[in-house]
Amino acid sequence: MTISPTISAADERLEVPGLRDLTAGWLAAIGEDPEREGLQKTPQRVAKAWAFLTAGYGRTLADAAGDAVFAAEGSEMVIVKDIEFYSMCEHHMLPFYGRAHVAYIPDRQILGLSKFARIVDLYARRLQVQERLTTQIADALEELLAPRGVAVLLEGVHLCMAMRGVQKQNSSTTTSAMRGLFKEDARTRAEFMSAVQTTLRGR
Ligand SMILES: [Zn+2]
Repeated sequence: MTISPTISAADERLEVPGLRDLTAGWLAAIGEDPEREGLQKTPQRVAKAWAFLTAGYGRTLADAAGDAVFAAEGSEMVIVKDIEFYSMCEHHMLPFYGRAHVAYIPDRQILGLSKFARIVDLYARRLQVQERLTTQIADALEELLAPRGVAVLLEGVHLCMAMRGVQKQNSSTTTSAMRGLFKEDARTRAEFMSAVQTTLRGR
C-alpha cells in the first residue's frame, strides 16, 4: 500500500494515516491481544512515531538547506564529523544508526554548518539501505554547492543483523561515496580519511 503523507501547517506529519489500524492488525498477527491494557495506545503511538521516522518523504533538499548557501572565497576542505543518524532499513523495517562524516571542497559556494545534519536527516528519515543513504547525501551536496569534491563516510550498526545474531553485535558497516577531488586525488582522500580516523578509532 502507499502511505500518503499529510503535511500539517507546521510541515510535520503528526501521524501516518491508516497506520493505527494496520498496527492493531500487526499486533494480532504476532499473537498479541491489541485490546490488552499495555497495548491499547500502541497503534496510536506507532502511527505518531512513524510520522517522525519517515518525515524525510515529505521534505525536499531545498527545505533542508533553507537559504544557507553562501558565496565565499577559498577552497579549503571543510569536514563535519560525527553527525548522528538514525534510519530504518528497508529490508526489515528495523533501525540502523551511527555516525556520518561529511567533507567538501568549495568552489565559491559554502553551506551553513548546521545544515549538514539536516541533510543527513532528510534522507535518514525514510526507509533506507546504508549504501543509498550515503550516495544521496553526496548527491545532495553536489547538487547544492557544485563543489570541487565531496566525501561522505557512514558507519552504521544494523539492528536487523545485531538482534538476529547474524553478525557480532559490535560490528559496524562502513560505506563511503567520494566525488570530484576526493575520488581523483589520493592525497585529498587520505587527508579526509585521517581526519575521521581518530573518530573511528576513538570508540
Ligand atoms: Zn535489515
